[in-house]
Amino acid sequence: MAHGFMGKILWVDLTKKKIKEEELDEKMWRDYLGGYGLGARILFDRQKPGVDPLGKDNILGLVTGVLTGTPALGGSRYIMVGKSPLTGGWGDANSGGNVGPALKFAGYDAVFFTGKSDKPVYLFINNGKAEIKDAAKIWGKDTFETEDILRAELGKDVEIACIGPSGEKLALTAAVMNNKGRAAARSGLAAVMGSKKLKAIALKGNMKIPMPDEQKASEMRKNLIANMRPSAKFVSDFGTPGIFNPCVESDDAPCKNWAGVTTIDFPQYKDIGGQPTIAKQEKKYGCWHCPIACGGHMKASTGEYKYEAGAHKPEYETLAMFGSNLLNDNLESIIKLNDICNRYGLDTISAGACIAFTIECYENGILTKKDTDGLEMKWGNTKAIVAMTEKLAKREGFGNILADGVKIAAKKIGKGSEKYAMHVGGEEIAAHDTRGGPGFAIGYGAEPTPGRHTQGGEGPHPPGVMIEPPGFDRGAYKGRGQYHKRGACVCEVYNAAGICMIVFGDGYGNLGQFVEAMQTITGWDITMDELLKTGERIYNIRLAFNAREGLKIPFELPERMMGIPPKKVGPRAGITMNKEDTFNEYLEAMGVDLKAGKPGKKRLEELGMADVAKVLWK
Ligand code: SF4
Repeated sequence: MAHGFMGKILWVDLTKKKIKEEELDEKMWRDYLGGYGLGARILFDRQKPGVDPLGKDNILGLVTGVLTGTPALGGSRYIMVGKSPLTGGWGDANSGGNVGPALKFAGYDAVFFTGKSDKPVYLFINNGKAEIKDAAKIWGKDTFETEDILRAELGKDVEIACIGPSGEKLALTAAVMNNKGRAAARSGLAAVMGSKKLKAIALKGNMKIPMPDEQKASEMRKNLIANMRPSAKFVSDFGTPGIFNPCVESDDAPCKNWAGVTTIDFPQYKDIGGQPTIAKQEKKYGCWHCPIACGGHMKASTGEYKYEAGAHKPEYETLAMFGSNLLNDNLESIIKLNDICNRYGLDTISAGACIAFTIECYENGILTKKDTDGLEMKWGNTKAIVAMTEKLAKREGFGNILADGVKIAAKKIGKGSEKYAMHVGGEEIAAHDTRGGPGFAIGYGAEPTPGRHTQGGEGPHPPGVMIEPPGFDRGAYKGRGQYHKRGACVCEVYNAAGICMIVFGDGYGNLGQFVEAMQTITGWDITMDELLKTGERIYNIRLAFNAREGLKIPFELPERMMGIPPKKVGPRAGITMNKEDTFNEYLEAMGVDLKAGKPGKKRLEELGMADVAKVLWK
């Protein structure tokens, strides 16, 4: 038995209120590394295609990776997995904080929920003992109240992943929350949790993660921390808000529902950037044992938009989606909006996109004040933005139309509103532009989870990951298939293994150090080549899940995001992307059959997935 994992997963049948343990073969861990790799393999094997994502047959998992909770840098993550009610295909959502490590210290690598409870419940795991408990007193409470009540009852050292009122009301824009501000926010999986009447998962324990040589692992960690890359300091000082100004200045950040140019339409953007955000920060916050600690707790608000001291610092995505995207220059209102989302359990990317969609519909006469509950939904109308977000969180009035995301809202509204619904495959688009951003374009359209900025090949990486071929054009859509593939496979690996993207990109000095960390913790004689193949396998099992549900790759991007018509002004003026140029080389490199839009038979067999090939290529 190698190490890095506890060796046990838990199955919780919420209909029958039965719990059982399972031990997986070590090969499963080595082939899929945990997280969404293991999750997708298990759901592909054990869940029938075509199930209702909000029905009893959708399996919901909370899964850690082989490096979660270990001395490897950045091992703070867990991933929620299940069939996504937003896309109808594979769904996953990744979060930091303390919950991932806590699950392992409580004795398990993963917990999977089947069935549906008839009344609100939560799962409590305490040092290897799991029980389903009545959640009547926390149902209806926000995520802060839920954490406080459970901590008072179960002890201060309990860690909690939970849904807020939005998840309970099955809002597809809802997020699973932990540590009052860390969110597993994409794919609509909080609604799946709500559909099962599962309010929370509470974790407590001090069990040890087995490792081949603890002393060596601890020395490795010390060495990694001493040699972190210089960029780690910038992220530590500012967090992701530090990239807001550069993203605006390169026209990467959204503006007016992706129809504007921030530097022109929103010249006051610096008022909500990294510096002013840090000026309102009370103290830094870090996920479990994180040497970077990019998060922050804010001082209490000073003005009209009230929030308490300790509210979490908004991330770049939140500043962009509720700030530049809506021409909202009131920083405290953005902190307040972030706080609303954290308390109700909402995805800030989706919520910001829903408000932008509403404003564009309103400005174009598709919606009137009568539709929007008397709110004047105009760009920069901060009061209306905050009020509508609260309605969305509570599913009240027009907020009920928005709560399931822009695709479903546009369907309900009709009248040509579809063209203002900025989503890919049903998921709202993250806050980076595809026009002039070919890496994001591939990530949004050619990954199993569409519209995702943390997926794909060109995110933050330490030296050694990206290898530019001779004559490589950084701005071109064509000619980056193999280049993107290498980064994407590495991304699949660190996500599945439970490592934070930021720590991976800014902490590890080079790729070799990451491979060494994997060897030290697991005891496997794993190589870089094996890890790249593993990454490809994980991509393909996630994609295979989509294919079996009838979803083809690539996804369609909104015409606006493809530059049809192109922007007229700004740094990205004149750019139109071509779908085939952008996606085909990458998909071919990943072994996808372009005609069928699904994983190719031969590559599946080469990756040791002949059984999956048999299912997809009957
Ligand atoms: S870098 Fe930030 S998000 Fe990543 S583990 Fe550290 S605190 Fe958490």
